Amino acid sequence: MTREEYEELNYHKALCVWFTGLSGAGKTTIAEGLESKLFWEAVSVVGLDGDRLRNVWHDLGFSPGDRKTNVRRAGRMAKLLFDYGHVVLCSFISPYAEDREYVRSLFPDGKFVLVHVSCPVEECKKRDPKGLYKKAAAGEITDLTGVSAPYEQPAADVVVDTSLLSVKQAIQKVYDYVGDMI
Ligand code: ADP
Repeated sequence: MTREEYEELNYHKALCVWFTGLSGAGKTTIAEGLESKLFWEAVSVVGLDGDRLRNVWHDLGFSPGDRKTNVRRAGRMAKLLFDYGHVVLCSFISPYAEDREYVRSLFPDGKFVLVHVSCPVEECKKRDPKGLYKKAAAGEITDLTGVSAPYEQPAADVVVDTSLLSVKQAIQKVYDYVGDMI
């Protein structure tokens, strides 16, 4: 079966939407909201995120080399799901520009959308949904993106500033961008 055949069967196009941003910026929240919206429109949608996939391969930490491997593996997995005709929503901090561009290069032109879920680190610290910023302040973790590990600014197709938009507005902004591509 080709991707085109799956697309014909599904009555929609396949696409990869890749969310990048700091921990707590809102990648998972927006991706899950979008996933639900698309699911109820009968779109064949799959969500991948860092926590889920790290549990699948459980051999990677947070060193620069492991982050690179994690993002590149996730990108290849997203490509596989895309080839089966799915809309794949990927939420990964993906801090390095080179790795994000590698992932983009796996997809045909116009089939990969990079969404920068942007939020000032001070606001992410206040939210701290996983308690990571607190742990970093206590010295319990030493390689937190935006605090003690780098985050390279992305050349994104869509920027969603979650310190300015509500969750609903942020989901709608991404939906408005990708809707016609699906
Ligand atoms: P990430 O996946 O980027 O680490 P999460 O989605 O797990 O971030 O957590 C983001 C937190 O920020 C959630 O508690 C969410 O409710 C909150 N939040 C506040 N405003 C927004 C917004 N506009 N978009 C997304 N999340 C938001």
